[in-house]
Amino acid sequence: MTVRFGVIGTGAIGREHIRRVEQRLSGGKVVAVTDISLDAARRCIDALQLDARLCESEDEVLQDPSVDAVIITSWGPAHEGSVLKAVAAGKYVFVEKPLATTVDGCLRIVEAEARTGRRLVQVGFMRRYDAGYVALKREIESGRYGAPLMVRCVHRNAFVDERYTTDMAVLDTLIHELDVTRWLLGDDYASVQVLYPKVTRHAHAGLQDPQIFNLVTQSGVVITAEVFVNCQYGYDIQCEVVCEDGVVSLAAPQAVDIRHAGLHARPVMQDWKFRFVDAYDAELQDFIDHVGRGAEPAGPSSFDGYIATMVGEACVFAQGKGEWVTISHQEFSRIGRL
Ligand code: NAP
Repeated sequence: MTVRFGVIGTGAIGREHIRRVEQRLSGGKVVAVTDISLDAARRCIDALQLDARLCESEDEVLQDPSVDAVIITSWGPAHEGSVLKAVAAGKYVFVEKPLATTVDGCLRIVEAEARTGRRLVQVGFMRRYDAGYVALKREIESGRYGAPLMVRCVHRNAFVDERYTTDMAVLDTLIHELDVTRWLLGDDYASVQVLYPKVTRHAHAGLQDPQIFNLVTQSGVVITAEVFVNCQYGYDIQCEVVCEDGVVSLAAPQAVDIRHAGLHARPVMQDWKFRFVDAYDAELQDFIDHVGRGAEPAGPSSFDGYIATMVGEACVFAQGKGEWVTISHQEFSRIGRL
């Protein structure tokens, strides 16, 4: 069946997801749209020439019986309320990260979903659908290189604007590494330490940039993740896994190799939208494929969203301290895994 989507939030990624459902993917259609700014939602419907209803509120979207699933792409603090209402209405949910901005909010979602007895929610951790990360996981799991011992991650953006704050380095940026590294290793985090290097002159006043996050997993793997959001030269994502008998690294995405004027070079992508465009397509297509045949979504779950926010909160707590902070796993055993 065609999955009929309601969309809540028509900002940057909301419009991108609508465009991919309507123009690139198969099996989905956007039938209802809303945003906190109705003008923005109306402009989106007009600009993308959607055959979709403009709804005055998310409640109107969720009460619409012709809506099978919702895409929630409003700003983070609004996610929890929308997801809870959608789950209560029995709709399938594709929600952008973060699942919710607080650990308690994530738990409320995990528990509400568990009470329905089925999986309804998928979180937009699209890196799990990136061909490079998928290949990296396959190599690690082959066992050919022995056990992973250390991971080195790099997350660099060319620049950020004045609204970007020091804690956003975790909740907006590092959160992708927190999810994908846990998925790659099949291992949970035990502790974190945050180091503050000398601040770049390109950071606006009050922003700590770059930052180094050292994480240790329960099995003892040490992960060093650099977040540097004013690196100037582009959007650069790296991941290297050092194992007992070899090293596996994330290959650079489709890029040309240039030999010119005494240099051997490869262009660096400038924007996350381009770097992960195929992964965004793949995650949403997977959601459509499952929901369309009446199956539960198979991508990152509300539990994964909960873990990312919980570990993220520990990282934020560790910021500015320089000390190791234990990541509490009490909640893990309380609710179990979905
Ligand atoms: P954005 O451009 O600011 O869009 C957010 C939209 O939601 C805006 O139109 C905003 O309206 C609207 N909104 C705010 N509160 C709302 C509410 N209560 N109900 C309905 N709409 C509401 O931000 P964005 O870049 O698209 O990001 C949206 C979400 O996607 C964020 O959670 C972000 O972290 C996530 N994201 C994920 C990725 C990824 O790689 N997976 C990439 C980018 C973004 P106003 O503009 O009027 O406030």
